[in-house]
Amino acid sequence: MMVGLDIDGVVADFIEPFLRVVEKKLGNGPIHMDSITDLSFKEHPYLSEEAVWKCMEEVSYDPAFWRNLAPLISPQEWQELDRLSRKGELVFVTHRYERETYSIHEVTCEWLKEHGVSSPIVRFTQECKSDLVQELGVGLFMDDRHENCAAVAEKTAAVVLMPHRLYNQSFSHPRVKRVQNFKDLFDHL
Ligand SMILES: [Mg+2]
Repeated sequence: MMVGLDIDGVVADFIEPFLRVVEKKLGNGPIHMDSITDLSFKEHPYLSEEAVWKCMEEVSYDPAFWRNLAPLISPQEWQELDRLSRKGELVFVTHRYERETYSIHEVTCEWLKEHGVSSPIVRFTQECKSDLVQELGVGLFMDDRHENCAAVAEKTAAVVLMPHRLYNQSFSHPRVKRVQNFKDLFDHL
């Protein structure tokens, strides 16, 4: 079965270093993870959507930001992913922005190789992820953003898993299964 995996917030720790960038930009002191209850930042008590977007744009032009992300999964889990990848049953599906100044595709593949996926397949899109999931014949999909999970659950036949995060905790959907651990993915294969 083809597995489709999001990268940021699933296998890469995006939010912590991103908040450090936002802190630096705003200069108003520390931003606590607990305050991030929604990745749209629409309801955030003191961060505006505009400020967050500016930081997102800034990091999208910075290859070092992506190279330095910490992994969220264990070496054993990376090995399992490599096994799937070698069988041609793993594709990463990401909304990371592609810029003309460097190749985010290359940076992302290097990062995945460094952690153990020997020849990763990564697909970039700015459209709804459900289109790619459909096109690639993904049967099992995991994403930390509830909007992506809902779209894939409603528009494709894929089984959809969402790792539990503070920022997706209030979401529920009959076809999106919340999982506590990444390794739960392998139970669905
Ligand atoms: Mg994500």
